[in-house]
Amino acid sequence: MAQDIILATSGLTKEFKGFRAVSGVTLEVARGTIHALIGPNGAGKTTCFNLLTKFLQPTAGTIRYKDRDITGLKPADVARLGLVRSFQISAVFPHLTVLENVRIALQRRRRGDSFDFWRNERVLRALDGEALDLVEAVGLSDFAGHQAVELSYGRKRALEIATTLALDPEMLLLDEPMAGMGHEDVDRTAALIRRVSKDRTILMVEHNLSVVASLSDRITVLARGQVLAEGDYATVSKDPRVVEAYIGA
Ligand code: ADP
Repeated sequence: MAQDIILATSGLTKEFKGFRAVSGVTLEVARGTIHALIGPNGAGKTTCFNLLTKFLQPTAGTIRYKDRDITGLKPADVARLGLVRSFQISAVFPHLTVLENVRIALQRRRRGDSFDFWRNERVLRALDGEALDLVEAVGLSDFAGHQAVELSYGRKRALEIATTLALDPEMLLLDEPMAGMGHEDVDRTAALIRRVSKDRTILMVEHNLSVVASLSDRITVLARGQVLAEGDYATVSKDPRVVEAYIGA
């Protein structure tokens, strides 16, 4: 059976003053999977992410999301279609509680981007049930009444994921979700990503290869702006070109 591809790029290319940071990348992400984009520093991962979320316009190539050409769209339009980068449109307010932050994100989804609901406490209260479910889903129930600023680094990222989930994305792009985390937070965040992936597609850039190995259904390895290898972890980690790219980086 042909795989259901939710996101596909074809010949994706980005030049910065003649330098090709991303060069002819063809990538297919199957619906419902966790797909990792890895590669040594300077491989073009961040540029790829910025192209997918339309923060950057490609020099050449196309991007299709759910069978729709999104190459020319703006970031907000792409997010509206359900392709959302964590931390892109969700903001965490440090001096509001975990629950308040999630409630506001939920409110924002219903109202679009406007912030004119601040004082409407009654409306915000009505969202508490849904907000509590989300807080629980990211493992923050015990911290619902804590201010965001009081949370550990890992829990802050969990809150950011909760505020992103409040927007109900169909596909999530996670940019180094484990960056700067200690072991405990890494384990907790990995479990969270696994839970979140149950009814969503995830594409993540991640440096922690043991996390990539344990979470990813499929991995695309980039080097010097090009796709070097693709497959499951067992396959790509044995590929001599991948080993060389990492050692030579
Ligand atoms: P990665 O995320 O894999 O480390 P990047 O996408 O950040 O790689 O960068 C890929 C290459 O493109 C690097 O050589 C980087 O210096 C270059 N690059 C990225 N952004 C710009 C920019 N705005 N202008 C010029 N060069 C850039």
